[in-house]
Amino acid sequence: MDEQPPGPSDVDFSRASIARVYDYLLGGREYLEVDRRAADAMRNVVPEVAEIAKDNRCFLRRGVRYLVRDAGIRQLVDIGSGLPSDGNVNEVAHAVDAGVRIVYVDNDPVVLAHARAILARDEHSDVVSADLRRPGPLFEKVADLGLLDLDAPFAVLLSGVVHHLSDDDDPAGLVAAVRERLSPGSHLLLSHFLDDDESRADALERAFLHGGLGSGRFRTWTEIRAYFDGLELVEPGLVYANEWRPDEHTQVESPVRTLYAAGIGRKP
Ligand code: SAM
Repeated sequence: MDEQPPGPSDVDFSRASIARVYDYLLGGREYLEVDRRAADAMRNVVPEVAEIAKDNRCFLRRGVRYLVRDAGIRQLVDIGSGLPSDGNVNEVAHAVDAGVRIVYVDNDPVVLAHARAILARDEHSDVVSADLRRPGPLFEKVADLGLLDLDAPFAVLLSGVVHHLSDDDDPAGLVAAVRERLSPGSHLLLSHFLDDDESRADALERAFLHGGLGSGRFRTWTEIRAYFDGLELVEPGLVYANEWRPDEHTQVESPVRTLYAAGIGRKP
């Protein structure tokens, strides 16, 4: 564990970061003591909390494979892309088709520094610094790269990021603004903390919000289902993440399965 990871000098390393806490839970090495403490606050209420991160990462891999292999998607916009980890989106997509073009988007400068270092050699991928809370400028930056044709079908990945928007941010309105920008035939992949198991979800939400991280909302099926309004949900619909087309690597009986929902929708 480094005391101070490589990254831009304007980063506040005294605060836990979403990306580094997630990296810690996934067994990565890009975390600081402050991130470990935030993760421990979560572990105190749900000892298996790291399984949520692993289950989400597995869903993301299955979802990207579906989009590229089965839905014929050749362009991806990965918003809240996070630190590079096992099974990065470009690795999964390019294992199916080396020509898939990917734009990674995150608002954390440390994530961007890592993503640039790793993706610099890849002519099919690029990285932009933008915030999901300002979808207009975000999509302008993506378009300005000239890498994607946003009039043709593409997929937006919102994996593990919308639950970091507070209710005051108006997540429903922000995701609707993302949906509006999808061209016909485009897809939205979304995974989210789920409040279907009240006592654990409530306790874990308090640990996320007040244990050092400052964000992490567990929302209901109804709230999460609304993020797909106007889209056709791909089978099996919006479900516990581990029930979304499980493969041989999926922990279907995960101890945290009721705390995470996922789905993919298609714009008609
Ligand atoms: N998408 C990856 C995955 O599912 O494995 C990483 C998820 S990680 C839990 C959430 C990421 O979203 C972090 O890298 C964080 O910096 C980013 N993020 C949080 N809020 C954001 C926002 N408003 N705009 C853009 N990125 C955001």
